[in-house]
Amino acid sequence: MAYNKKLNDAVQALHEEAVKVLQDVVRIDSTTGIEQEAQNYMEKLMKEIGFDKVDVWCPTQEELSPLSRYGGSGASTQELGTRPNVVGTVKGSGGGRSLILNGHIDTVPVYHPEVWRFEPWSATIDEDGKLFGRGSTDMKSGLLAATMAVKAIKKAGIKLKGDLVLESVICEERGGCGSLACLQRGYDHADGAIIMEPTNTRVCTAETGTMLMRITVEGKPAHGSAPYAGVSAIEKWCYIMGKINEWDRARHEAAEDQHDPRFKDYQMVAPVCFGMVHAGNWTAMLPNELVAEGRLGFMTDQTVDSIRAEFEQLLQDISKDDEWLSVHPPKVEWMPMSWDAFNIKGSHPLPDTLQAAIRDLGMDDTLTAIPYGTDVKYFIEANIPCILYGPGIITLAHYDNEYVAVKDYLCEIASLAEFIIRWCGTEE
Ligand SMILES: [Zn+2]
Repeated sequence: MAYNKKLNDAVQALHEEAVKVLQDVVRIDSTTGIEQEAQNYMEKLMKEIGFDKVDVWCPTQEELSPLSRYGGSGASTQELGTRPNVVGTVKGSGGGRSLILNGHIDTVPVYHPEVWRFEPWSATIDEDGKLFGRGSTDMKSGLLAATMAVKAIKKAGIKLKGDLVLESVICEERGGCGSLACLQRGYDHADGAIIMEPTNTRVCTAETGTMLMRITVEGKPAHGSAPYAGVSAIEKWCYIMGKINEWDRARHEAAEDQHDPRFKDYQMVAPVCFGMVHAGNWTAMLPNELVAEGRLGFMTDQTVDSIRAEFEQLLQDISKDDEWLSVHPPKVEWMPMSWDAFNIKGSHPLPDTLQAAIRDLGMDDTLTAIPYGTDVKYFIEANIPCILYGPGIITLAHYDNEYVAVKDYLCEIASLAEFIIRWCGTEE
């Protein structure tokens, strides 16, 4: 199938403007918690483009906290205040498939501004066409690409049959209560959804799951000059962690996901990783307790409940071979935030239509998969088929010198625009 030339010409004609709006938005600091100014920009932009409705509202804790069925939003721990979501709708004429495009406006903070090549909110484009800035990859380029794709469709005078909803949401980096609030507001049905998270402009059809946990290991305190009189919680933890790592390697070896070509960029597709360990309060003393916090990845054929059960069983098995642990087993607590896995295998109209659009534009239509959590979990809960597709490389996200290649951003606009008209259908 040939791509729509009129639409592609409209995309080409928008290049300069598309780069400008991305720079504008990267230049606004929208670290999680202070999204308002950037959202004001998104509201204005959507209105200028001519969305039929631009819905702006500030989610509240009262609305969101009871919605635990959505896998825990972290809403109860957030200061929400004046942090608006902005959702634009282009009403279809009827008879087409509906679509939600979702992107988060918030970014993680800048940690080491001194090591950046350019000031982190400068949106400077270097000689190789890389646009630098916090949020450039994750994921202002994806969000703005979708916005400009809609603009191109409007400019080309194309009328869609299916409804199109573009969500610019807050708070993804702290649990995703912005996307949750969209569902709660009634944006909870569509024939398909795309989240424009950075996938290196590859169509992403699977995501392994993620849980967060806290493990408490008990010891027996003793004076540092007589450690044999006690039990070191630190040594017990080292033993437990060694066993957890063994289990992790073995389950990866056996997992179908680990051998799935879509995950080929990742050495481990759902690893365990501990990020915080605290024990003791005196240098020359055996601690009575150790607390470790970490993330537990899980395969796409597992659920939050099944991985919990498997991991709790693992801790029991580890403990029963140890004299102390068999009587004082480690306790695991599951934190409220978790991210379900998803996996679209084989043929499905959503990725198939996107791949065809990409192919017909002469771009790379390879499928990919990711090992980290996204707002897809909410779309799964709402039974909306959802995939990820965005410019930018995930290893640049959250790091110093984050950038997006301008050419990938422009490719994303072209392919999303072509996809939208095929998915939603058009009036001739
Ligand atoms: Zn992101």
